[in-house]
Amino acid sequence: MKAEIIAIGTELLMGETQDTNSSWIGSRFPEIGLEPQWVTLVGDDLTRLTDIVDRAWRRSDVVLTIGGLGPTLDDLTRDAIAKMFGEEITTDPDLAAWLEESFSRRGMSPMPQQNLRQAGMIPSAITVPNPLGTAPSWWIERDGKILATMPGPPREMMNMWTTEMAPRLKARIPGQAIMSRMFKTIGLSEAAVDEMVGEVYDMDGVELGVYAKPDGIYVRAIAKADTEPAALSTLMAAEEKIRGALGEYIWGTDEEEPPVRVGELLKARNYKLAVMESCTGGMIGSAITDVAGSSDYFVGGAITYTVAAKIAAGVDGSIIEKFGVYSKETAAAMAVAACKTYGADCGVGITGIASNADEKAPDGTEIKGGTVFIGVAHPTGVVVEQYRFPSRRALVRNRAVTAALLQLAQAIK
Ligand code: ATP
Ligand code: MG
Repeated sequence: MKAEIIAIGTELLMGETQDTNSSWIGSRFPEIGLEPQWVTLVGDDLTRLTDIVDRAWRRSDVVLTIGGLGPTLDDLTRDAIAKMFGEEITTDPDLAAWLEESFSRRGMSPMPQQNLRQAGMIPSAITVPNPLGTAPSWWIERDGKILATMPGPPREMMNMWTTEMAPRLKARIPGQAIMSRMFKTIGLSEAAVDEMVGEVYDMDGVELGVYAKPDGIYVRAIAKADTEPAALSTLMAAEEKIRGALGEYIWGTDEEEPPVRVGELLKARNYKLAVMESCTGGMIGSAITDVAGSSDYFVGGAITYTVAAKIAAGVDGSIIEKFGVYSKETAAAMAVAACKTYGADCGVGITGIASNADEKAPDGTEIKGGTVFIGVAHPTGVVVEQYRFPSRRALVRNRAVTAALLQLAQAIK
């Protein structure tokens, strides 16, 4: 079933309001067997709105509009749909009475006449109640297709989707099952991942997407079949191929997040963690403390940007002098010093070049921009790794955070 979304409002086009509703709904289409095909943003203009509703109705099986259901004259969704179907809007007496009553309940009688717009109906539509707002929605079923309107305010929209729209749509969608899984990798480029999973693109019933995210490259596999068991077995076949191709580069799936994983492991081992961060400037501490309950295992740490700050926080200056500030030895010394200085069982030390400027080590060798050294100290040893990330500042820092957390998780698992 082809589905599309029309997000309505001039403020969306002008960038004053971000269209968060469309992606929220679009991401929920597959769960109920709908394939998102188009999202259109359109302003509060009757001609253009009618035109886009008409096009959507002709090319899609399910059309959802969002917004433009309010009482004001620039709320034109109902008018456009009526015009497209060639039907007249009349005031529904029950809805009008309900609106009047809700106004008087809030001590706002008499209701402004303008609000009667929200009681407008056409013969093809039935109403879907909106308990969180005044504007009810329209639900139209004709010629085997569905068109429904939804309110613009995100809270009202989400509530209506969950309680009304999703169950109604699901009940009418013939058995197609869609299952999907996201595989999260680190250490490979987008092109490399794409090439490695190449074989999966040709699998029947599988759709593949490769996305570069701040914390690494993600691969999404979507499996479609007539029944849920069939979709599941297709997805599992795809997973086997993807894991075979990407192996150790995959660090997690779906909702898995490194700070959460690290937190679980630290708690299970009853370890405390401290950090010493240079090029990530506190981002690891921030990622760890984003997780509720992190005070159970996170002690704290230091942002030691200069050599002097590293020494002040407990790093042996002669190590930095001998091996350079960008080195495995310094990263290891930072990790060990973090443990000692802050009385923790585990320490993370991170030093590297976030910019694309190349630097020289004391022995004269060149260190490329994007090179990051991460040390992890734990009760039974110290592990240090050297990474080279795409040398764009934001990417280097974000991927360094993910790499450090994964390295820690690996070390104590
Ligand atoms: P109301 O009765 O509140 O006017 P409405 O259904 O007419 O509701 P709009 O007037 O289009 O909806 O939007 C109301 C508010 O909802 C907007 O000011 C905006 O903050 C938010 N909103 C609308 N559309 C979207 C969207 N696509 N994504 C995120 N927020 C939205
Ligand atoms: Mg409005």
